[in-house]
Amino acid sequence: MLSTLVRVLHIQPMNHFIKNAALSIGFDACGIAKAELLEEDAAYLRQWLNNGKQGEMHYLERNFEKRTDPRLLVPGCKSVVVVLMNYYPTEHQIADAPQISKYAYSSIDYHTVIKEKLHLLEQLIIEAYGSDIVAPEYQHIFVDSAPVLERRWAERAGLGWIGKHTQLISPGLGSYFFIGILMINAETEYDAPMAELCGKCTRCIDACPTKALAAREMDARRCISYLTIENKKDISKEFIPILSNRMYGCDICADVCPWNKKWATPHNKKEFAVVPGMLQWDTETWEKMTKEQFNAAFKFSAVQRAGYKKFMQNINLLRNQQ
Ligand code: SF4
Ligand code: SF4
Repeated sequence: MLSTLVRVLHIQPMNHFIKNAALSIGFDACGIAKAELLEEDAAYLRQWLNNGKQGEMHYLERNFEKRTDPRLLVPGCKSVVVVLMNYYPTEHQIADAPQISKYAYSSIDYHTVIKEKLHLLEQLIIEAYGSDIVAPEYQHIFVDSAPVLERRWAERAGLGWIGKHTQLISPGLGSYFFIGILMINAETEYDAPMAELCGKCTRCIDACPTKALAAREMDARRCISYLTIENKKDISKEFIPILSNRMYGCDICADVCPWNKKWATPHNKKEFAVVPGMLQWDTETWEKMTKEQFNAAFKFSAVQRAGYKKFMQNINLLRNQQ
């Protein structure tokens, strides 16, 4: 089956082959950028870290040089292949129940799904161009992992622009998608970045309840996603009244974006099937959830990142603010 697909696809230039292969295995978009130093990002990132805006996410401080130059991360790397996969759900939670960010609705952690598909894409590329096209001795597949500035690579690969809410907005998709990266040791035709289309809009900045956003910059220490997932300390009293019924992550800045209203459409991927029954759970169901129920529902889910204790602490904070 794979060999047939490779034969069919392998009469095209490499960049077309890779993009068509990516679409054929279920990604929604694919672009390719030249692997090089991200000079402007390096200066910006240094400043952002120096200002402590990463909060307790100290892993962001490690591998600084590798984070800003993929050729140091994956020696021999010449091109960065970027894929997007839509996760916008068909249905949403009951509006007044404690809210989980939409990316975490599914039973299976998106890391697992995207990585499996990237390995499949890699296999197709190897079948077409030989095993030297990747460096198996180095990690060269990345999904939401610290050493790679995924949104910037997606932007460079012509897949969209980074909006003022700091997420990538991709024409036809909006911003509800996962980003995956595959680094390869071959040059090809590259995609041109597109112009940003935020214009004078400030809806995301205005809507953010914790004032975490300035134009194209986020103070992670103030973001509800950080506070309810990554932050291992108690959430500061300052933020408790403005958690806006969010118990795991936050989509407020994405939900108000006019480009999402125009472009976000429900995915049709069985891999992102929602935790059974979860969308109908009311506040009482969430508040009474036992550890056993949590583990049964979220055994393979991204929600495990917070863990039961933190998850229930978040729910209790929301209850106490009512
Ligand atoms: S995710 Fe929520 S808290 Fe974070 S920047 Fe967006 S609106 Fe603000
Ligand atoms: S809400 Fe407006 S400013 Fe924010 S990302 Fe969307 S278009 Fe850009």
